[in-house]
Amino acid sequence: MSRRRKIYEGKAKILYEGPEPGTLIQYFKDDATAFNAEKRAVLDGKGVLNNRISELVMSRLGAIGIPNHFIKRLNMREQLIKQVDIIPLEVVCRNVAAGSISKRLGIEEGTPLPRSIIEFYYKKDELGDPMVSEEHITAFNWANPQEIDDMISMTIRVNDFLCGMFATIGIKLIDFKLEYGRLFEGDMVRTILADEISPDSCRLWDVETNEKMDKDRFRRDLGGVTDAYAEVARRLGIIKESEGGGAEIVSINGDKGDK
Ligand code: UDP
Repeated sequence: MSRRRKIYEGKAKILYEGPEPGTLIQYFKDDATAFNAEKRAVLDGKGVLNNRISELVMSRLGAIGIPNHFIKRLNMREQLIKQVDIIPLEVVCRNVAAGSISKRLGIEEGTPLPRSIIEFYYKKDELGDPMVSEEHITAFNWANPQEIDDMISMTIRVNDFLCGMFATIGIKLIDFKLEYGRLFEGDMVRTILADEISPDSCRLWDVETNEKMDKDRFRRDLGGVTDAYAEVARRLGIIKESEGGGAEIVSINGDKGDK
């Protein structure tokens, strides 16, 4: 592998300088962290699965006109993306109570919410990503009112699309987290979807059994984390059952190996 300049290393991904100005390479690691990185593990193959799942989801969102940073997948663990200035917010959308909303408001996990709820969290590890309101966001200039409107309307569209996409494969979309960035095009700045959409950033439950198929398997020590991610990939048609019974990644670009 050629030497490339590392731009940023996060908990589950690394960003390298891209081949052209305005591009980056997003590398998916096998590392898993939870509870603000207090809990850590390496889960064999997670990065490969998340790269493929995020590729599929971002491509489909792009196809329905939701602008995002994905350009193309390069290999098993890397994708070429547009360079953006990340807005320092995590945008969470919830359909069913789980995780922090259940704890904070005392709503039993699995209770459908009266309507989809969007929340903002300030991306700041030292503070444990606190929940913030639009008042905080504009007062501290993390995003302007137009950007907040863009993020809310895109998140609602993403939610509608993903709920339908997962419903057709027997999966309930409980909640998910999105990140957005500013894309500079000449004098123009656009808000586009960035980061990843994968079982690391979504809660996905089997429709029939309510079995968790997402990162909660790691957070709650349920085991079978990558098996669950692989099952999501299998239902999405990314991996097929090989004749030997194991899972095999379906090649999309005729490219199966790491470069
Ligand atoms: N989430 C995420 N990254 C974070 C925090 C949350 O991807 O740093 C996702 C999480 O996987 C879930 C949704 O956002 O799908 C809502 O998470 P919640 O606020 O319930 O927090 P948690 O219970 O994960 O601490």
